[in-house]
Amino acid sequence: MRAAVVREFNEDLSIETVDDPICPDNGVVLEVAACGVCRSDYHGWTGGHPKVQNGSIMGHEYCGTVVEAGSKAKHKVGDRLIAPFILGCGTCVACHTGLSNTCAHQVVPGFGTPGAYAEFVAVPYDHNLVHLPASISPALAAGLGCRVTTAWHALTDRANVKAGEWVAVHGTGGIGLSVLLLAKMLGARVVVVDIVDEKLEHARLNGADATVNAANEDVATAIHDITGGGAQVSIEALGIEATTNASVECLAILGRHVQVGMPAGSGQMRVNMRAIYSKQLAFFGTRGMPSWKYPDLLGMIERGDVDIRPMLAREVSLSEASGELRAMNGPTPPGTAVITDFQH
Ligand SMILES: [Zn+2]
Ligand SMILES: [Zn+2]
Repeated sequence: MRAAVVREFNEDLSIETVDDPICPDNGVVLEVAACGVCRSDYHGWTGGHPKVQNGSIMGHEYCGTVVEAGSKAKHKVGDRLIAPFILGCGTCVACHTGLSNTCAHQVVPGFGTPGAYAEFVAVPYDHNLVHLPASISPALAAGLGCRVTTAWHALTDRANVKAGEWVAVHGTGGIGLSVLLLAKMLGARVVVVDIVDEKLEHARLNGADATVNAANEDVATAIHDITGGGAQVSIEALGIEATTNASVECLAILGRHVQVGMPAGSGQMRVNMRAIYSKQLAFFGTRGMPSWKYPDLLGMIERGDVDIRPMLAREVSLSEASGELRAMNGPTPPGTAVITDFQH
């Protein structure tokens, strides 16, 4: 099969013919229909993720059609499926108690096993996968493997956002944009922070109540002014020190910070603990979404309660993925790129 392989960090992915994946007993092989290019991939591409090395195939936000099913698979050949990026084992205590995104035996294709920057991907633990509704295109569904679901879990589980609350979101990549769209659906007011005016304009067009350009303004001061004392919830969607500090500093008393952006490298940061202490903040980490939450979320998308189309900016080919990763070195335009052509 054709695959985009990591050979040297910060260099174009190598388009190679590699062995087709072997079907796991407890899972399936998907013919990949779409795979998102995510900032987590960028961290891998630059050498900032321990599980991405020479020879790795990235790609963790995918959907596709089953072409081979193992003897213990739940799904069958021909099924069109969406995969969450975290595949829980299904048999441990975490999985049995609805916390499959915390499973100690989890598998994440693209980070440890070959991912979906390829024509085919092997997916074990296929009980995590759900049917892709006919009304949702594969390019849109790719985001439901990572960004949209991670944002949904951050808002509904960790932060437990209530209608009328102010939600601040720092960074308007795939996660940030998802947070905006989903928080508006939940009835929150949303203030979006970025350093790219075009992305702030895009956010306003898609429902943001207010925007702050962190290149020109002190974020915490601006958000305290906009919200009348600080946001109740703040979502960090980039994974760097500046936005993490802006997030805790923009919160109101007893506010809830959720760290969604993956901190790269060692993960060490200098964080304003005085803000956390004196405002008595809650500081949550989050990663992924348990797969049992898919039916509700897909239902809301299918009924039109939320329109996730603004997420998708570009459909690209496999060989164009390198350009998308390289572009994340600097400020990027609004929306996200999804690979939908695996032949070029
Ligand atoms: Zn991702
Ligand atoms: Zn498990």
